[in-house]
Amino acid sequence: PYIIAEPCVDVKDKACIEECPVDCIYEGGRMLYIQPDECVDCGACEPVCPVEAIFYEDDTPDQWSGYINANVDFFDDL
Ligand code: SF4
Repeated sequence: PYIIAEPCVDVKDKACIEECPVDCIYEGGRMLYIQPDECVDCGACEPVCPVEAIFYEDDTPDQWSGYINANVDFFDDL
């Protein structure tokens, strides 16, 4: 799946939510999260993010690799 990383924190622009064809991007406390089991890897959300917070999980910059699990954990904790 695609994941959302640190640049989204306290931004939550939500342009990605409008683009996602399966509505799998959800609002959390300080950022948005992608539901990994619902994401169909279409990539539509990535280019519309104004702060470039969205990455295909394997392409996530090392300094934000923890956000891969953060997206999973957000939904596990619901
Ligand atoms: Fe939604 Fe596609 Fe982005 Fe996955 S890659 S979160 S399905 S817009």
